[in-house]
Amino acid sequence: MPINFDFSGKTYIVTGGNRGIGLAISEAIAEAGGNVGVIYHSAKDAPDIAAGIAKKYNVKCEAWKCDVGDPELVKKTFKEIDEKFGQVDGVVANAGISVVKDAIDLTKEDFNSVYSTNVFGPFACAQAAASLWIEKQYKGGSVVFVSSMSSQIVNKKIHQVWYNSSKAAASSIVKQLAVEWADKDIRVNALCPGYVETDQTSHMDPKLLSWQKDELVPLGRFSQPKEQAYMALFLLDNKFSSYCTGQEYFVDGGAQAW
Ligand code: NDP
Repeated sequence: MPINFDFSGKTYIVTGGNRGIGLAISEAIAEAGGNVGVIYHSAKDAPDIAAGIAKKYNVKCEAWKCDVGDPELVKKTFKEIDEKFGQVDGVVANAGISVVKDAIDLTKEDFNSVYSTNVFGPFACAQAAASLWIEKQYKGGSVVFVSSMSSQIVNKKIHQVWYNSSKAAASSIVKQLAVEWADKDIRVNALCPGYVETDQTSHMDPKLLSWQKDELVPLGRFSQPKEQAYMALFLLDNKFSSYCTGQEYFVDGGAQAW
């Protein structure tokens, strides 16, 4: 039995699909033959990145500028992608931000920006996709939230109250949506990465980075974005993950094993 991912003729939306983990997911979908609607926030090179993916893998891949925290814009963007590509088969709600600050210094603005992107954002994307699927009576849609192992654990040296709690909220939303939409044949899961080598981690103090690798990760290294992308594809693919819904899937090098 062939067990390769085959997304030919399918279309997936990846928020934050222009860099980091999201870019690896966009590329992996395209490599499996799927079309990709890349949602980005402000990166000027996102349309070129999407065009590069389209050319390299001979699929349709275009970028849409959209703040995932704006529900009307999310709905409009999803509708445009659906019309342009003919359908949407799945969504990876990957866009996320963090504010790293001591709790004593955190402000309401910090809360609003992190929660708008990390909690309301994936919810708005899931809602927009589910509305399309219900309206079109499409069966088998899959939504993957990119949460974090921070949904379950905190870090003594990296202070990010709103980030950790926002990921716990995102993982909780996944469970509720999975239950509410199971009878519509819509699956909702969370991918929970451990430490990944991306822009988010490249700005960290090198001493802190080696402490994390040596002390916190049994595999002794950070993950490459592609190692996260494979789990996202598994959760999107109805052939392999048809019985998976409402769960968190940790890809963390064993970081939570102790
Ligand atoms: P990056 O910082 O590399 O990229 C973030 C992406 O999100 C960018 O594409 C950015 O778009 C997009 N984005 C940010 N805000 C918005 C918004 N309001 N609307 C739409 N798009 C937005 O992130 P990573 O690749 O490191 O992380 C991706 C996800 O994985 C996040 O949810 C993060 O929390 C999670 N994660 C990351 C870990 C890591 O170690 N890196 C560990 C665990 C979880 P633009 O480029 O236009 O600004």
